[in-house]
Amino acid sequence: MSAQDTVLVVGAGPAGLSAAATIASMGKKAVIVEKEDILGGAPIISGYAKLVPSGEWAKDAIGRMVSRVEGDGNISIHKSAKVTQVAGEAGNFTATLSNGDKVEAGAIILGTGFTHFDSINKPEWGFGTYEDVLTTTQMEQMVAAGQIRCPSDGRVPERVAILLCVGSRDRQIGREWCSKICCTVSTNLAMEIKEISPSTDVFIYYMDIRTFGLYEDKFYWKSQEEFKTKFVKARIAEVTKSPDGRLLVKGEDTLVKRPIVIPMDIVVHAIGMDPNALNPEIARTFGIGLEKHGFIDRAEQYTNSQGTTRKGIYVCGAATGPDDIDSSIAQGQSAGARAVADLYGQQKIAS
Ligand SMILES: Cc1cc2nc3c(=O)[nH]c(=O)nc-3n(C[C@H](O)[C@H](O)[C@H](O)COP(=O)(O)OP(=O)(O)OC[C@H]3O[C@@H](n4cnc5c(N)ncnc54)[C@H](O)[C@@H]3O)c2cc1C
Ligand code: SF4
Repeated sequence: MSAQDTVLVVGAGPAGLSAAATIASMGKKAVIVEKEDILGGAPIISGYAKLVPSGEWAKDAIGRMVSRVEGDGNISIHKSAKVTQVAGEAGNFTATLSNGDKVEAGAIILGTGFTHFDSINKPEWGFGTYEDVLTTTQMEQMVAAGQIRCPSDGRVPERVAILLCVGSRDRQIGREWCSKICCTVSTNLAMEIKEISPSTDVFIYYMDIRTFGLYEDKFYWKSQEEFKTKFVKARIAEVTKSPDGRLLVKGEDTLVKRPIVIPMDIVVHAIGMDPNALNPEIARTFGIGLEKHGFIDRAEQYTNSQGTTRKGIYVCGAATGPDDIDSSIAQGQSAGARAVADLYGQQKIAS
């Protein structure tokens, strides 16, 4: 096949996997370049438990997407590799990889995703100081292992607090965006904790609850009514330790406008989605623009939704901003179809 029949897909998360499968389904060749030594993106690399909204284990759901591309003769895969240089133009790119290989492709799709917020950047909420302060990804790994225990001493927690919007909607630390999925993920996590550990009470501390669309009753109301999750509208000031070794969540109940100090055994940070920490390097290598928060910029919202600021280079999934798996998959399909359509158009003009 010629370069014009090949699309280079960078990143093998839900978005990139979906783009590659779409390209192959149209009889074109996809070459995947993934920097890690496993495919599947954040849900696999970070060991998510059951996904919202399907309730399916991440390793099974995303595992199916991985098997689909691994079993497709039109798709080749470079793991533990990055693109270091891009020469040429739309219809005729040559990419040099960190392993020395060269890929000739008519179009490039970036499915390079996001970076989890590092809770160390919110030191007043105890992460990195107290062993029993965890992130949602760490708690999901505990759920996947089927046991809820305090990391400090292995006791079954009486109370777990989940703090929403950690690293999102926080202008003080330069994260003005809502990470879109963490309210739903947290209400689901509360139900999973209760299922595994019925004696544990789960509290969710929130500014607003944004279980968007159909997730309102499936997660927010169900978590509250069937699983007795307690929702506390609050501004959290700090997480400290009491003399008996429990954690103290201190802040203000913003409904009754009173200070609150509630002892907890585990505190979970519902971490948000940052721009991929590699985006400055990605922007330089591929010659594309970033939007003001550092996510990859799109060409045009309505008529070229998956285009970047450079012709022939497309983007999909959480690389453009916080998004869920369903939308990332849909964007991957859209980017794959648009890239092939644009190439096919060029071939018709050339012939
Ligand atoms: C705690 C948490 C829980 C979540 N749970 C859910 C859930 O239950 N349901 C749901 O719908 N959504 C969930 N999400 C959102 C979900 O993680 C994203 O929607 C999804 O991972 C986005 O897929 P993606 O392919 O765009 O990006 P990613 O999953 O980030 O994949 C990007 C891939 O690109 C690779 N990559 C990055 N840079 C490069 C580079 N320069 N070169 C080569 N490869 C590169 C990465 O290694 C990775 O494999 C959750 C998010 C968080 C923070
Ligand atoms: S989805 Fe919920 S927890 Fe996440 S940033 Fe938005 S409001 Fe906060």
